[in-house]
Amino acid sequence: MKRIAKIYRSDVLVIGGGGAAVMSAVQASRAGARVNLVSKGKAGKSGNTIMIGGGFGIDGEGAKEILGLPSNPESTRKKLFEKLVYSAFFLGNQKLQKLFVDKAPEAVAECLEWVKDSGSLFIYNPASSSWFTSGAAFGKAVARGVKRGKNIGLYEDILVTDIIKSDGRAAGAVGIDIYSGDIVRFDANAVIIASGGYQPFSVKNSNSDMTGDGIAMGLRAGASAADMEFLLHIGTILEPEYAKGSLLPFLLSMGTAPITAKMTDLDGAALPFPADKKYKTGPLTGKVNKVLMAQFYGKGIYEKFDTHGNAFYYDYSDYSDHEIREGFKKFADAHSKLHRDGYYNGIDLARLAEDIIKNKKRMKVTFGNEYSMGGLVVDTDFSVAGVPGLFAAGEVTAGTFGAFRSGDGLTEMLVHGWIAGKTAAGYAANTRPVSSGVEADAEEKAAALLAPFDRKEGVSPVEARKKLETICDAGFDFYRGGSRLEKAYAEITALRSGLDRLSVVPNERRYNLEWLNSVIVRNLALCAETGIYGALNRKESRGTHLRADYPEVNNREYLFNFIASLHNGAIKYDKRKPGSFYIQLDTENYPSVADFLAEKVLKES
Ligand SMILES: Cc1cc2nc3c(=O)[nH]c(=O)nc-3n(C[C@H](O)[C@H](O)[C@H](O)COP(=O)(O)OP(=O)(O)OC[C@H]3O[C@@H](n4cnc5c(N)ncnc54)[C@H](O)[C@@H]3O)c2cc1C
Repeated sequence: MKRIAKIYRSDVLVIGGGGAAVMSAVQASRAGARVNLVSKGKAGKSGNTIMIGGGFGIDGEGAKEILGLPSNPESTRKKLFEKLVYSAFFLGNQKLQKLFVDKAPEAVAECLEWVKDSGSLFIYNPASSSWFTSGAAFGKAVARGVKRGKNIGLYEDILVTDIIKSDGRAAGAVGIDIYSGDIVRFDANAVIIASGGYQPFSVKNSNSDMTGDGIAMGLRAGASAADMEFLLHIGTILEPEYAKGSLLPFLLSMGTAPITAKMTDLDGAALPFPADKKYKTGPLTGKVNKVLMAQFYGKGIYEKFDTHGNAFYYDYSDYSDHEIREGFKKFADAHSKLHRDGYYNGIDLARLAEDIIKNKKRMKVTFGNEYSMGGLVVDTDFSVAGVPGLFAAGEVTAGTFGAFRSGDGLTEMLVHGWIAGKTAAGYAANTRPVSSGVEADAEEKAAALLAPFDRKEGVSPVEARKKLETICDAGFDFYRGGSRLEKAYAEITALRSGLDRLSVVPNERRYNLEWLNSVIVRNLALCAETGIYGALNRKESRGTHLRADYPEVNNREYLFNFIASLHNGAIKYDKRKPGSFYIQLDTENYPSVADFLAEKVLKES
């Protein structure tokens, strides 16, 4: 019995519907390829691209020379490149970091054409050569971008599950049509994975797309993944419930906010941020605050995890009721061009101010996962190492940001897609179509997808996913320690090995969340296990990896990337020293992540 209901064919297949995918598709189609773009959500209405809280930028020289825009003479290509290398704690691929700087103006110029077509508001700030906008506006521009490519077939609401291969090459993918329940096959000469990052925690500041599908399907196809232990966190509201998941706290802690909270744990004990000027960020280094906050507040929160979880308070009790109301009103006014009057991303700020006042002037907050630095290992043409015909772009990759993303994820996705689309189209044009083995591989994968329907008893995919998040919340969150990591590692490996007993009870394939989760939990567990392994075995602190028991940045022993790959289903880990192509690797140790940042990033900027 054939399990594949439909087959679609193109030269290039792009997996994803965010900025990296759409840019890849547009560039591949411009280079003459017939392109199919297939996305779990809607193009321009899914992924992290529509969740953004601020904006994105490029260097000032590029803005002036290539885009003809006014810019800050202090913001040079050299400075941006150095900031990326140092903020990555030297773990980035310096060649990819150079491409990020050099190609960003051209890639952004293309995106600005989509912006013009869509009528979205992007506000340019010459001081930082960056554009401020909202997630909704960016999504609209991305949706418009698809239309600028020729010959792009758009397939939405399809969860791609696996890359299919022939003769050792990527030859397409299979996926589940979410609403019909059909298993569909996409044949192509070249495949670009642009499906975003992974977020294994229960608190979300994004939508539910970030399940590491692309990283996991790449690994299963023979690719490697690097830096999976590095996950960027940002202040995220826990209560009030209607504002849960908002990254407003981070914006409220930037120097420009009208009122500034003091931080306390849930018992009211102060979580101090040192007054020392060396930790002060500037207009080009604001993102460094994310890591500084996680380090300075993290230890106190970590120590009380058993009673309070990962929560803490933004405490406004130094202000009168009137000052709090006025402070939030001013914040709303400052954002009124991009958001509904009085609101920030759907949150009524006057209501929030009243609720804070009622709650003893406190807002309950945590650090939510915003971005994953780890992902598929790619070369400078965005081909995926180890799998001919496979390419990757955007947050699904590793190498641009190393241990900490201090540059813009949006710029990254545009640059990657800009290059990956062209190179994949070139590869597809110069390769004969694969013939043998595709059908057999696709049918085998389809059979594995359907297997949970045949088990009347076993592990519930939804329950397994909840368990996975609980494990990660307790042991793998923004602040880590040896014993909790050991427990998390033991639990995640046990959970992953139980996933071959997944059982889907409702026998209906259409929009079956249990079934979709049977795919997702397998992917997320693979990503989480590789991440926890790296975190456990990295006995130092570096970038966003903050350890209570090993606070030192240990360049002498730990300046390497953990690289994971799959061999007959088992994960193998290697260590690889990054290349010093333009800047020599650091050989000094630093007492803490904050000290490294103060010395190498903030002092230099
Ligand atoms: C709350 C928040 C705020 C942020 N703010 C900023 C900011 O201000 N500035 C900035 O530069 N960056 C910001 N970022 C990061 C930035 O949004 C991302 O780095 C960037 O959008 C990633 O783009 P992408 O195209 O690689 O992936 P995404 O935009 O995440 O897109 C992934 C796409 O792949 C699809 N997909 C996933 N799995 C599958 C599958 N199995 N099959 C088919 N399709 C699949 C999804 O549906 C989605 O369409 C923020 C992130 C978050 C979460």
